[in-house]
Amino acid sequence: MNRTAMVTGASRGIGRACALELAKAGARVVVAARQLDKLEEVASEIRTAGGEAFVVALDLASHESIKAAISTASKEFGRIDILVNNAGVTRDNLALRMKPDDWNIVLQTNLSGAFFCIQQVISPMMRERWGRIVNISSVVGQAGNPGQANYVASKAGLIGLTKSLAQELASRNITVNAVAPGFIETDMTGVLKDEQKARITQGIPMGRIGNPAEVAAAVRFLASEEASYITGNVIDVNGGMYMR
Ligand code: NAP
Repeated sequence: MNRTAMVTGASRGIGRACALELAKAGARVVVAARQLDKLEEVASEIRTAGGEAFVVALDLASHESIKAAISTASKEFGRIDILVNNAGVTRDNLALRMKPDDWNIVLQTNLSGAFFCIQQVISPMMRERWGRIVNISSVVGQAGNPGQANYVASKAGLIGLTKSLAQELASRNITVNAVAPGFIETDMTGVLKDEQKARITQGIPMGRIGNPAEVAAAVRFLASEEASYITGNVIDVNGGMYMR
């Protein structure tokens, strides 16, 4: 794959796995997030394995930061061909108790941030008549989840965004798809108590939690040449936890 990919939230978890997987497939990878030390570790892992990586600081809650990050990355590696909007945060609470800040930061980071990243990369993709955009949604964006109205709204929003932009950009040979992970072992789910994990696992037909590499494999496929006729789709990577 002679392409440049950018992965947001690549410092750990699913984003890290996507960056490693895309690099393994031959892409030059821009790894972006707020914590530069963690990103440097991921970049070294990629370089040790013979790949090319570039670290860029990105705070999705800031439009200025998004513009600066993508401009810096494009100067280093040229056009971004593949964008993986992976970064995401949770600020869970019941609706009655949810503070405006908890609503705003989650929508801003997970949904608005993803859209503004897309806006920054599509002009060069349109000129090139090639592009791949993969948005990381969630099973809860399809099924809903009490106590996560903000997060669920952001993840459902990403699915709507995916379908709209898939229609808008299809004629330019840019595909836009989403991946909806189920319950995946990362820092985000690491905060859950063992009994909560056990209860969730009971509702998963495959009887286990997924791992980041299993999500990254779907992302790599959607980013590949072979996925050229797939757009506006959501691939569920959830062990059967939710079936549409
Ligand atoms: P994670 O381990 O918590 O990692 C989140 C990543 O997002 C980190 O790299 C973090 O880096 C980055 N990030 C957070 N806020 C950011 C900001 N303002 N600007 C830029 N980067 C930011 O999460 P994960 O479990 O790997 O999840 C990755 C994605 O998959 C998320 O969108 C999540 O909603 C989704 N997902 C996860 C699961 C699951 O079970 N784990 C299930 C469904 C969907 P810094 O802190 O360095 O900025």
